[in-house]
Amino acid sequence: MKVVSARDAKTRRGPEEWFTGAVWMEATPAGTPPDAGIFRVLFEPGARTNWHIHPEGQILYVVTGEGRAQKEGEPAVEIHTGDTVYFAPGEKHWHGAAPDTFMVHVAINPAANSDGGTDWLEQVTDEEYSGEVR
Ligand code: MN
Repeated sequence: MKVVSARDAKTRRGPEEWFTGAVWMEATPAGTPPDAGIFRVLFEPGARTNWHIHPEGQILYVVTGEGRAQKEGEPAVEIHTGDTVYFAPGEKHWHGAAPDTFMVHVAINPAANSDGGTDWLEQVTDEEYSGEVR
């Protein structure tokens, strides 16, 4: 067993090359096998990731608030507190807050101790963000 204290987590502003709007990320230090990259991420209203791909896939757990997530080629979907979202390896997607609500999710990146394995792509335009939501 290994307990990683929240005191050891590093909180930083999400870089502009990865996000639109204010985003704060808190990365948990590495654990022990079976390890994963664990991130608590806070999005201000309207903030979202760029389009991106996780080669190993990703699981999101919405801790609080309301948000949106979209897989390329499909309409965006609303996500809410308590929802879990699975992205398959290689799936191009984005996620973020709803327009009028903060959203905090925990992101779990399998087999990755850091976000270094994510392929960051182009910004989600206002038009894409404001598009159809299921
Ligand atoms: Mn993702």
